[in-house]
Amino acid sequence: MEIDGERLRTDIETTGEFGALEDEEHGRTVLTGTEANRRAREYFVERLEDAGLDVRVDAVGNIAGRWTPESADPDAAAVAAGSHLDSVPEGGIFDGPLGVYSALEAVRAMQDAGVEPTRPVEVVSFTEEEGQRFASGLLGSSVAVGKRSVADALALTDGRTTLADALESMGFRGEGRLDASEWDSWLELHVEQSRRLERADVPVGLVTTITGITHCDVTVRGEANHAGATPMDERTDALAAASEFVRDVERGATEIGETTVGTVGKLDVRPNATNVVPGTVEMSVDIRDVSYDAMNELVSRAEESLSRLEAERGVETTFSRGFDLQPTEMSERCRRAVAEAGENTGIETLDLHSGAAHDTMYVAGVTDAAMLFAPSRDGISHNPGEWTAWEDCATATRALAGGLASLAH
Ligand SMILES: [Zn+2]
Repeated sequence: MEIDGERLRTDIETTGEFGALEDEEHGRTVLTGTEANRRAREYFVERLEDAGLDVRVDAVGNIAGRWTPESADPDAAAVAAGSHLDSVPEGGIFDGPLGVYSALEAVRAMQDAGVEPTRPVEVVSFTEEEGQRFASGLLGSSVAVGKRSVADALALTDGRTTLADALESMGFRGEGRLDASEWDSWLELHVEQSRRLERADVPVGLVTTITGITHCDVTVRGEANHAGATPMDERTDALAAASEFVRDVERGATEIGETTVGTVGKLDVRPNATNVVPGTVEMSVDIRDVSYDAMNELVSRAEESLSRLEAERGVETTFSRGFDLQPTEMSERCRRAVAEAGENTGIETLDLHSGAAHDTMYVAGVTDAAMLFAPSRDGISHNPGEWTAWEDCATATRALAGGLASLAH
């Protein structure tokens, strides 16, 4: 199978023009329901149709193009691949579109090479993976795996507009529900978003596990008081206590394991005034690991830190673990299909885990799934500077195509 790197590049570059940033060489903002999103979707549908795929759009705007060649049993479970077309504000041009268009390019390469799969092959774009307007992320895939109902999804609102209206206004409110559990298997190619492939000088990553995620909400309450008139030994400074907590989370994550990460990324300090001792701090903690035990250990350490601060500093604290998703193992069958395809064509692959969430996290709950990574220059993503060399895009697409062809036989 020959991958047409220029064809793939044209599709990704063209998609990168929708919602393109004015002052940057590359980069785009594509939020659900915007003009940029409509154009990205319309271009995708055109490209699917150009390749002779049957296109359908489901009720939440998920788009799927199905290739059912004569060799395939139309009733057999399809092998699917894809990603998303939306972006974060001022994001890059590869995060999402690489997965969508590499899947399409894989189908075109199979067609050009006369590959005769026995299963249909489906190319998919999920609605709002990035969760920048209507949900907190993985919107379309949450419906496709049955975690969220179509009705609940359509009723999601950004405060003014519902998802239903946003899809309607773009002409992408379709019918029915794309059902990921009907697929035989699923592959997603994505940019790595860290530097492990670059450092190892390996062109393709094969994901072993997608890390679990826990979000905790923390409150530290002290006493707001005059910054000039309150002696140091009479203060209950909520921010000074909170800063020890931040350090404890950092230390805990560093000590627990190589793959453990803990981040206090959001603080709300009150009254947040120069001449007032901070009275209250609200914080959020993001904890991730491939090991759920390690995640739980960091949660325990965070709670212990708060108990210590209550005892030593006299603050009052609250702690709640609001959001919790366990780590997701990738399917051995799918991983082997890609690894063998790589071996057969001289493409080296590296096993690694994904620290970021992806639609595949949900899809893996209902069918066999795996993910491939392409190298990210300097590990940068969610940034206009996000870059993957075109040659690396083509190489990873070759591994994806080989994996898909093997799974579809
Ligand atoms: Zn993505």
